[in-house]
Amino acid sequence: MKYISLLGATGSIGKQTADVVRAHPDQFKIVALSAGKNIDLVRMYIKEFEPELVSVQTKEDYELLKSEYPNRKNLEFMYGDEGITAVAVYDQATVLVNAVIGSVGLYPTLQAIKAGKDIAIANKETLVTAGHLVIDEAKKAGVSLLPVDSEHSAIFQALQGEKEKNIERLVITASGGSFRDRTREELQGVTVEEALNHPNWSMGAKITIDSASMMNKGLEVIEAHWLFDLPYEKIDVVLHRESIIHSMVEFHDSSVMAQLGTPDMRVPIQYALTYPDRLPLVGRKRLNLAEAGKLHFSEMDFTRYPCLQFAYKAGKMGGTMTTVLNAANEAAVAAFLSGKVSFLEIENLIERALNKHTVIASPDLETIQEVDIMTRKFIESIVKDR
Ligand code: NDP
Ligand code: MG
Repeated sequence: MKYISLLGATGSIGKQTADVVRAHPDQFKIVALSAGKNIDLVRMYIKEFEPELVSVQTKEDYELLKSEYPNRKNLEFMYGDEGITAVAVYDQATVLVNAVIGSVGLYPTLQAIKAGKDIAIANKETLVTAGHLVIDEAKKAGVSLLPVDSEHSAIFQALQGEKEKNIERLVITASGGSFRDRTREELQGVTVEEALNHPNWSMGAKITIDSASMMNKGLEVIEAHWLFDLPYEKIDVVLHRESIIHSMVEFHDSSVMAQLGTPDMRVPIQYALTYPDRLPLVGRKRLNLAEAGKLHFSEMDFTRYPCLQFAYKAGKMGGTMTTVLNAANEAAVAAFLSGKVSFLEIENLIERALNKHTVIASPDLETIQEVDIMTRKFIESIVKDR
């Protein structure tokens, strides 16, 4: 039995993790979970999974929940930063599934690593903002970082039994997001609703916007740099509209290993939990290549997608530059989702934040947190009167 603590239980990845647990109750048990504001779903989880610790974002929700379960044994509630960290390090859990969104996941992740938990990581912003800290701590503690992001799971699977020294390059596939068939001119005035309409995947709002701007792929390049310890020159991106090949590894002898499947996040989530074993994925659609007929690939256009260019540039500069990239993106996407800025302004805001910043090499946690807050304030000061 694997005992799981789950951050971001009420989100897209959180719900699909719950599905995986539901399908294999003899293998997995959720012992602690954290949510944001979706209290209705928290109540359903308490009923179904009987977790021992539940954390929510606000004090009000915490007090409400506490009052609703007055005599319940083996159920504790917490809230805020302290609560999410307590879930991450929960004693009975052997693995942390980190499916929270944003750099708010960084501190709990570091604490969970120090507490000796293996981490199934979906929360890519944590690796982008401070990958060096996460990797260093994981090495020190001897815990595993198991990728949940589908591209990184694909690479991880393609590398089983291989030696890292034989890798020529990684090829990360990109679906192109909701605006892949539009020119840059056609992006003027696109709505939030249009941006949220992803052709292949059903995901949370922020990552769906990141996919449309191609920042998601940029974040994934940086995520791959940390997870697989490779220089940016060895990480490429190719457009592949069907999202059937989830990514590839090319070796020195020119062999290419790819992992394929229908787009379904339950596969990489489950693999992170069963690795190095596998379990059946009951009731899911299996890949039928004859039905797919054709797979398409095309070169990535960095002029069409400046966010991908920013990510490579920030990644190569390293230090606090990727912290700025991530925080500026989080703030700019939030401003777009709340109708304050246009879609094309997202990239403009990020570029301004990057240009303004003087990189600090090898930042510690405190510096990362300061830069993160300052960057958000900078973006907010630009958009506040809109
Ligand atoms: P969602 O927006 O769907 O879910 C985010 C989760 O985090 C929710 O449970 C939300 O709570 C919670 N949350 C948000 N802000 C806070 C906060 N300040 N404090 C505590 N909890 C908070 O995101 P996704 O599931 O789409 O994405 C999660 C992570 O996985 C991201 O890093 C994303 O990049 C990555 N990922 C997602 C994929 C997908 O298919 N969705 C694919 C690959 C990677 P609530 O809803 O209760 O408010
Ligand atoms: Mg991905």
